[in-house]
Amino acid sequence: MKTRIRGGNVVLETACKNADIIIEDGLIVAIDSPSDAGVDVDVEVDATGCIVFPGFIDPHTHMNLQQSAKFRAADDFYSGTIAAALGGTTAIIDHIGFSPAGSPLMTSIDNYHNLAKDAVIDYGFHGVIQHVDDAIIAELKDIIKNEGVSSFKAYSTYGFPANDQDLLRLLAAVKEAGGVLTVHCENDGITKYYNDMFVAAGKTEPRYFPQSRPNIAEAETVGRLIDWAHQLGDAPAYIVHTSARQSLERVRLARQRGQKNVFVETCTQYLTLDEGLYQAEPACAARYIMAPPLRSLADQAALWQALLDGTIQTVGTDHCPFMLAEKQLGSADYRQAPGGIAGVQERPLIMYTEAVVKRAMPLVDFAKVMSTNAAKIFNCYPQKGAIKVGSDADLTIINPAKPFQFSADRLHSNCDYSPYCDYRAAASIEKVFSKGKLIVDGDQFVGARAAGSFLKR
Ligand SMILES: [Zn+2]
Repeated sequence: MKTRIRGGNVVLETACKNADIIIEDGLIVAIDSPSDAGVDVDVEVDATGCIVFPGFIDPHTHMNLQQSAKFRAADDFYSGTIAAALGGTTAIIDHIGFSPAGSPLMTSIDNYHNLAKDAVIDYGFHGVIQHVDDAIIAELKDIIKNEGVSSFKAYSTYGFPANDQDLLRLLAAVKEAGGVLTVHCENDGITKYYNDMFVAAGKTEPRYFPQSRPNIAEAETVGRLIDWAHQLGDAPAYIVHTSARQSLERVRLARQRGQKNVFVETCTQYLTLDEGLYQAEPACAARYIMAPPLRSLADQAALWQALLDGTIQTVGTDHCPFMLAEKQLGSADYRQAPGGIAGVQERPLIMYTEAVVKRAMPLVDFAKVMSTNAAKIFNCYPQKGAIKVGSDADLTIINPAKPFQFSADRLHSNCDYSPYCDYRAAASIEKVFSKGKLIVDGDQFVGARAAGSFLKR
């Protein structure tokens, strides 16, 4: 079956072009100028007046996450990827959850292959590091080469913090095997120091939460990670959910001394929400408990600057929603709430509005931070992340003239609240194609359960 998407403003890698896209067998087979009529097609889609982007990639989600014995994230791979698709996202790379202590790396990956099989869009996994020894290092290299999981995440805090030697061994191993190490950067000692201080003073309401995880906790670990990556000959390191302006200063220094393999992600929430939300009445403030916490407006401005000047490569969501009643368990004590918020559906239209409409980010740059850069860093380019002949026909068509008011009935996460619930986007999602198939038509999901495939990267 042949499909033609006709007359849209197509966002290619270096320029936008008014063009027709021809799709066959799930792939882009031609990008023609609109005057080249005569291609016999079975389906024609009129994209006149719309912008055609490479399908957006969310490099940071947590579907099905069992965060603790008590809390499981509200979305599984089915509900979460429907929400993603409705927002214009055609692939996610999920940060998978922990397995019992001491497990080999494949335990979590095998578990997630099972959890993810109902996904409606393509999905990849970032493996997860819980401990480091010779067997883990050997397994890590083998998985990067043979299992289609080329990125792993290490934590500097929480239940399985990697120590200094661990991080060095991991960086060296991913460099050797051709993968990338992603790191949750928050210094464990600093967060414990401040947390203990606030708890001892009885200051456990959500308004104290951001001070319990200060900017320096993130920036210190970012700086250390970057230094070691440099020491190891520009080992590839990817900083997830960057939130603090001081972290960006360290990244800029790294780039100035020639490091090419330091990659930086931020998330929608750090660009659009701020720590003032923690000052609301506690039951409301508890909605925003996440790590790292929302930051100041000065941090937000620095993140925008960094996104616009290329210091930041990707925008993810860290989609990890919990129900309102669960979040409100943190009203009197922030430690009692599960950490994380929704955003997998909201990201593209919020970012389009905030970056393209309000801050004049060029469409080509927008496609990079929302899709292409993630595909390149995580080794699935040009299958994903670009409108090119031979690439998967993952396409997101945005109507820039039709605003979209977010509301509970239009947001499809299983979660019962959105941190962006009253947001009015300047544009709307018109249609979404996944591997050549129409999966979203306006407000309607028209795809199929289990239509997503594991993305070997
Ligand atoms: Zn995360």
